[in-house]
Amino acid sequence: MPLEPADCPLCKSPAERAPLRSHDGYSYACPSCGSFHIGGLAFGKATHGHLPAHVHIDVRRLQAEGELPRIDFDAPNFHVKPVARGKQ
Ligand SMILES: [Zn+2]
Repeated sequence: MPLEPADCPLCKSPAERAPLRSHDGYSYACPSCGSFHIGGLAFGKATHGHLPAHVHIDVRRLQAEGELPRIDFDAPNFHVKPVARGKQ
């Protein structure tokens, strides 16, 4: 899957992304936030600045545990969970 340039929805830095094939949303690779997946709804909220601080912390924690985090928005809350193995 080719990567395209896109600003990171977490930190707004220049990053790269690819659309996910198995889920809605994107796979991001950011120089400062690392690799993560984000669902379409969460992406829309994040790009409009509605991203709670715990999302950054949860992403870091999962990455430190060797997991690939996926960020989803399920009203009214954001959720960060590991991407299931084999669906990366
Ligand atoms: Zn970032």
